[in-house]
Amino acid sequence: MRFNYLKGCLVLVLILIGTTISLSQCPILPTPTIYQENKGAILLGEEISVNSNDLPDNIRTMLSRRLTEEFGIRMVVTPKSQKLSFHKLENVPQDFYSINVDENIRISYSSEASCFYAINSLFQMMSREEQGVNLIKCFVSDHPKYQWRGLHLDVSRHFFTVDEVKRYIDLMSYYKFNTFHWHLTDDQGWRIEIKKYPKLTSVGAYRDSTVIGHYNRSPREYEVKKYGGFYTQEEIKDIVLYAKKRYVTIVPEIEMPGHSRAALAAYPELSCTGETQNVPGLWGIFDDIYCSKEESIRFLQDVLDEVLFLFPSEYIHIGGDEAPKTKWKECEKCQKVIAQNGLKDEHELQSYFIHRMDEYLTAKGRKLIGWDEILEGGLSPNAAVMSWRGFEGGIEAAKQGHYVVMSPGSHCYFDHYQSTLSTEPVAIGGYTPLNKVYAFDPTPEDFSPAEASYVLGGQANLWTEYIPDFSHLEYMTYPRAIALSQTLWCTKKPSYEFFKEVLINHHLPFLKTKEVNYSEALFYPVMQIFEAENGLKIHFKGEGEYRYDLYVTTTDPAKALKGGMVVEKKDTLYFERLKGSDIHEYTFKLSNDLLTQPIIYHWTNHSMIGIKPLQKTTPSPQYPGNEISLSDGVFGAEPWKGYEWVGYRQSEPLIYIYDLGKSSVVEKVQISALEDEGSWIHLPQNFLVEVSKNNKKWKPVKSTSSVFSKSSGKGGFTSGILMNVKKVRYVKIVVQPKERIEGGKPGANNIPWTFLDEIRIIHRL
Ligand SMILES: [Zn+2]
Repeated sequence: MRFNYLKGCLVLVLILIGTTISLSQCPILPTPTIYQENKGAILLGEEISVNSNDLPDNIRTMLSRRLTEEFGIRMVVTPKSQKLSFHKLENVPQDFYSINVDENIRISYSSEASCFYAINSLFQMMSREEQGVNLIKCFVSDHPKYQWRGLHLDVSRHFFTVDEVKRYIDLMSYYKFNTFHWHLTDDQGWRIEIKKYPKLTSVGAYRDSTVIGHYNRSPREYEVKKYGGFYTQEEIKDIVLYAKKRYVTIVPEIEMPGHSRAALAAYPELSCTGETQNVPGLWGIFDDIYCSKEESIRFLQDVLDEVLFLFPSEYIHIGGDEAPKTKWKECEKCQKVIAQNGLKDEHELQSYFIHRMDEYLTAKGRKLIGWDEILEGGLSPNAAVMSWRGFEGGIEAAKQGHYVVMSPGSHCYFDHYQSTLSTEPVAIGGYTPLNKVYAFDPTPEDFSPAEASYVLGGQANLWTEYIPDFSHLEYMTYPRAIALSQTLWCTKKPSYEFFKEVLINHHLPFLKTKEVNYSEALFYPVMQIFEAENGLKIHFKGEGEYRYDLYVTTTDPAKALKGGMVVEKKDTLYFERLKGSDIHEYTFKLSNDLLTQPIIYHWTNHSMIGIKPLQKTTPSPQYPGNEISLSDGVFGAEPWKGYEWVGYRQSEPLIYIYDLGKSSVVEKVQISALEDEGSWIHLPQNFLVEVSKNNKKWKPVKSTSSVFSKSSGKGGFTSGILMNVKKVRYVKIVVQPKERIEGGKPGANNIPWTFLDEIRIIHRL
């Protein structure tokens, strides 16, 4: 342990040691059903002979290319090779394969796809050593648990080139994903060439501007620049073939009846009003959707004709989510469709609309799949459901005997944050770290075997509002996609600890060689704060067996040491709370060999840290915080990730009472609140302070500065009341929430959320 003064900063080097794991490791991910390691290993030289009898042409080409590219091994095909031999099996489970590595390598498989999976596994077992390529003797036997192992990509909000889409597919195929859900159309851009309707791409593929930063930012700013692009039918054929060679099926999505502004910009006559509107540069949900009249239905069926010609997939995704019924309610044509078909309301009209598509696709020998909103108003007989708003839609559909792909936002939305650090790039919101993805199970526990048989599998979704380029896309996708591959493939998923070790030892290095910009969130130590006498303890919980160097810098090193920072254990710091109006800001910078960049936490010591309120209004169970959330030295951050702030949803005042321990002079009271109108979080109307000597008789404190205003650099908004009240022991803070959300704002007329954080009562004896 060393303390150094460096440029006026206190620097502390701290070593954190986590848990140790020792396993005879199977390097393959997703983990195979059976892996038995035997004694010894074989070395592969510069050349390997492969038998030709049972080797599919596509596999032969791919194998030869990968052997050369990744290991510099030349492949020689001979009819009777023993070194690496392939054998097609009959009467084994679908997509079964086995690998036996002894003096020779024997691969047995049931389908071309499983032959491909076997090769992916084999490559994961090979390691380059000085004398050649090493392969441990072992036996592997394997088959997938689920048949739908999907990754999705939204190319509307941001466009990705043909080469980028191919790279996305290539990488997912290494992890035995077999379904690429290609979200080709949305409000902000139509991305597929349709020969019959050329304006879909000449007009609908381009927007004039794009919103900058988060949707909730106020006021909104735009980058005024033409943005867009689309795939020609030739390019799409090329990508479909590319995916096929990797045993990946592409499921195209054509969104309807909502998320259709790009199409309506090209053909305004398909909307209810017929008004000309642009391709929006803003995210969200728009009221203008396809009119349900016959003309729109025919248009979409024409589009589907060309889609079916390009994509051979069994399933065709028609969207079906987030379609406001506002325009349908006001539209004569839509009301006529309701009347003529004896429908109850606009929800049944949506169901009717989806039914028409279902009939059309069924007649063409395909199956319809849509987001779980297609359940509303009655599900079409042949439709499958992709459950995104949780598991409920999927559960309901499976109980009704429909096939289901589980893709709940809680576990499968890879556009959510993956760490709690303030340095994460802006994301839509939510918090879905690697371990949460790993815990995902597409089949609800209480499903009967019959119900479970309707669960096709699962899928992660990559919505790209906040993913502007491919490098960022890989950052959001990996390694979370590998965690998902475990869930979707493994018959018996091993522990998260096991997975993490294999990931770190074998797969992150592989991703590095592929120059994948994966997230290192897995290595971030978590800052945990605990109560302690006269202050707080801060503990950094590391992941795995890794050493962290911790550098602490503070605004006033001399005082900080005096102010009671004590290194308790190797990984725990103790801070005594400061007195009076002093504030010490600390920066904790943690680094090790695994992190490309150090990670940083900010923390503030002040006169209230660790003090629990004597009494407080109970927060909402959704955002309860803990006893010291408002006095833990961590200021709630923007963008909000759902946990730093303590949340309330009530119009009645929020009351916090603190006991200062002794009769004191109170100089100032401060509190922060959050504003995020898109999430219905509004600033309180004001706050008031009352003081007391005995916690019985209270005296209000007059103040003029109880309105919340933007603070600098701390996130949220802060308000402070200057008081200088003498000889009081108890302080009551009364926060008055806003009663209703104003008209014209998201959630208008509802009770807003009030989010509070750090309270500071500056006092002295
Ligand atoms: Zn209409």
